[in-house]
Order: sequence, then C-alpha cells, then structure tokens
Amino acid sequence: MTRAPYLPEIFPVEHMDRFEQQFWARCAQRRLMFQRCGGCGRPRNPPGHICPRCHSTAFDWFEAPKAAEVFTYTIIAHPVHDAVRQHVPYNVAIVVFPGLGDLRFVTNLLRVPSRGIRIGEQVALEWEALGNGFVPRFAYPAEGDA
Ligand SMILES: [Zn+2]
Repeated sequence: MTRAPYLPEIFPVEHMDRFEQQFWARCAQRRLMFQRCGGCGRPRNPPGHICPRCHSTAFDWFEAPKAAEVFTYTIIAHPVHDAVRQHVPYNVAIVVFPGLGDLRFVTNLLRVPSRGIRIGEQVALEWEALGNGFVPRFAYPAEGDA
C-alpha cells in the first residue's frame, strides 16, 4: 500500500555536515544508526565529530532499536514554513530507546490513535519513502497488530 508521506519532501535543508550526510546515507538504506563514543561509550544523537561529554573524536555507528518510547511531543498548528502550510496540524515527537540512556530522537508519530498521544507509549520504527531516500518515523501499531 502506498500512501502520502506524513510531511512533504520540500522542507529545505540549508547545509549538512559530513556526519549528517552519513546519517542520511544510512537512512537511504533504511538503517537508523547512531554514533557511540569510542572514549566513554556514550551513544549520541545528533551525529557529530566530538563527544560532548568526554571530547573524544573516536566513535562508531550502531543500529538503533526498532522500538522506542514517546518522551514528549507537540502539535504544530501554525505553519512555520510555506512547505507545511497544507499539512498543519502535525505532530513532532521526541522518542527514547531502551538501553540508550539520554539519547533522544526527533521524529513524527504515525497512526496516532484518535484519543491522542500519551507520554511513555511504545512506538515502532517505520520508514517512509521520501524523495530519493527514506525518513525514519515512529508509528503506533496498525489495527490488528496489537
Ligand atoms: Zn565520550
């Protein structure tokens, strides 16, 4: 089944550094991966060249768990850019992952129940085709999944 992506492709991206480029190259292969510091072992996001805790520049990439928990969210009702004028209201959520400490990931939640979003609920990684790649979103179970 094909459906429209949650948000349009035309959100402008002004600049991506090489770590963000690496992140999105992996997303294009439907692999959500984060960096883990080679100095202190702390997982981190967004990707960058240095650990904000121990200042090590050593790191590797690891695959994120598929399951996450809603940490917080907001509903965007006022379009901040013309690209999303036809898409309000939409949600922006921050999810956390079991075993990854304080690592946070900003996403959109799909298949939100009519009662709305609740902090602490379980959601699962779901890829949306967008442009030449894929965007990681997190979704409530489809009807019949639960
Ligand atoms: Zn570190």
